[in-house]
Amino acid sequence: MSAIWHPFTQHGLNEPIPLVDRADGAALYTRDGRRVIDAVSSWWVTTHGHNHPRIVAAICDQAQRLDQVIFAGWTHAPAEAVAQGLRALMPAELTRVFFSDSGSTAVEVALKMALGYHAHTETGRTGILVMEHSYHGDTIGTMSVGARGVFNAAYDPLLFDVGTIPFPTGDGVATLEALERACKAVRPAAFIAEPLVLGAGGMLFYPPAVLRRMAEICRAHDVLFIADEVMTGWGRTGTLLACEQAGVVPDILCLAKGLTGGSMPLAVTMATEPIYAAHCSTDRAKTFFHSSSFTANPIACAAAAANLEIWRDEPVLSRIATLAVRQAAMVERLARLPGVANARTCGTIAAIDVVVRDGGYLSTLGPRLLALFRENDVLLRPLGNTIYVMPPYCLDEADHARIEAVIGLALSAVL
Ligand SMILES: *Cc1c(COP(=O)(O)O)cnc(C)c1O
Repeated sequence: MSAIWHPFTQHGLNEPIPLVDRADGAALYTRDGRRVIDAVSSWWVTTHGHNHPRIVAAICDQAQRLDQVIFAGWTHAPAEAVAQGLRALMPAELTRVFFSDSGSTAVEVALKMALGYHAHTETGRTGILVMEHSYHGDTIGTMSVGARGVFNAAYDPLLFDVGTIPFPTGDGVATLEALERACKAVRPAAFIAEPLVLGAGGMLFYPPAVLRRMAEICRAHDVLFIADEVMTGWGRTGTLLACEQAGVVPDILCLAKGLTGGSMPLAVTMATEPIYAAHCSTDRAKTFFHSSSFTANPIACAAAAANLEIWRDEPVLSRIATLAVRQAAMVERLARLPGVANARTCGTIAAIDVVVRDGGYLSTLGPRLLALFRENDVLLRPLGNTIYVMPPYCLDEADHARIEAVIGLALSAVL
């Protein structure tokens, strides 16, 4: 009997917990000899594929050289390489790179930077605007700026108040008007959103034109725009950043998950020069007071530096384009099956909704689908009645066909 208390796992249901021994490309291999296709990129982190040789080599090499060093007032080559690589790859306006360990901490840092900026420039702005159905992490701060529901109901007394604008449907006019109204009435410090795709909210997509208008409205009202690209970054939506498709450069950018190709926990929050400048002073009280023990861990940074080299040297975007075409074709076929609605893709992300009478995350459909997928050696984790496929970019045609076949099989079993 294991002592482990797993994340997002209801142990009371006694569902099997497979033991994974090793991974390669798009496959996981279990202790009991099964080959499982990783159709969710191990929760959205694995971009190129598991155990990319270049990333593995960088980790091994760095582990022998320097394992860890304090990052307050000290630096090291892998962190400098990551910062330089990000400056070369990301929008030029994002001049500063702050390291942390996870998507949640990248968002916490972004919120603190935004509030710090407004405090040090004495604008009197403190409020945060968010988008309906958003997800930004599971810490107290990130739950506060995310959708409220069954996931955080017990902790609600700890969550701070935010202003919420509706998720954009159709042409997004209602959202844009609400954003403009809130910008004028509340004079908020910042607006945080997931660009183009709301992941945990149910793989909800909205068009680049709406994202562009939202960023413009923020700029017009001196509201900082924080882009949480923790999931959408690193090619997920077809471009390096989702913001790119809207021609938007955020004031603050959160990156994690695919930053190390999904191999090591590492995150960055990138900021424009005015945000950094507001903190830069001979006054110690304006220091950016944030750190964690393993900030910019050298081994994690070496993995991220290798990932940046892969982006520079390998045809990553053309692999993504190929995968996106296959995802779109798959979704088109799945859309014809009975019980399937809202078939959609955005870059490498494909999603369908299964039409059921009792929706929501706790519906019985999810667990039944989960079991069927597990029995068929495909790692898929439906979000309520939404089935989505978000594979590593190396997924081959045979494994892709297998994923599609298993989804078809599961649908016919539950409907
Ligand atoms: C996963 C995710 C996070 C949280 O990242 P962690 O590394 O799990 O803390 C934040 N924002 C978005 C959009 C995410 O998808």
